[in-house]
Amino acid sequence: MLRIGLTGGIGSGKSTVAALLAERGAQVVDADRIAREVVEPGTPGLAAVAAEFGEGVLAADGALDRGALASIVFGDTAARARLDGIVHPLVRARAAELVAAAPADAVVVQDVPLLVETGQAGSYDLVLVVEADPDTRVQRLVGRGLSAEDARARMASQASDEERRAVADVVLRNDGDRAALAAEVGRFWDERVRPALG
Ligand code: ADP
Repeated sequence: MLRIGLTGGIGSGKSTVAALLAERGAQVVDADRIAREVVEPGTPGLAAVAAEFGEGVLAADGALDRGALASIVFGDTAARARLDGIVHPLVRARAAELVAAAPADAVVVQDVPLLVETGQAGSYDLVLVVEADPDTRVQRLVGRGLSAEDARARMASQASDEERRAVADVVLRNDGDRAALAAEVGRFWDERVRPALG
């Protein structure tokens, strides 16, 4: 098994790179998706969040009211840390289960937006970082429905390009069109993934 940790700032193109790697046969384990699954209705994760932050974080149908939770943790570092303390271990445990279930010859790509922020670089055979010019990222995020202001605020709250580059084995630039990104991913696959598989 080859374990690749994929990261990059919001709007850099991680999910797009993950999809391109999946086309080549990689198994993608998506941390954002798992983070939603571990607080679905009926999960111990959601029960723990409600016990910590009160029933007010539950919508009428028993699902997590993300807006209510966000307004509690937004700007409150201690509350944010308590939430992360519940959710992050559950995400890691579920991701580990999915990785353990993959075949021995699999290329497993873990898409982890906060890989650098949460100090996980050492858990992978290869750390792949996607980078793009900040203005391009804002434009793309606006295209995805975010306001430019929100996009910049989220970018500012994350690790910097320098911090991500410091732990990267490979950096993919995503400043061009989708075809250029696909070509970069193809090169990465041929030069770094195939040889590692032997
Ligand atoms: P991330 O997962 O890092 O937040 P995404 O892969 O979701 O980033 O990309 C952000 C947005 O930009 C998405 O809407 C995506 O479709 C678009 N996008 C990504 N790469 C390119 C590209 N090279 N050209 C045009 N649009 C792109």
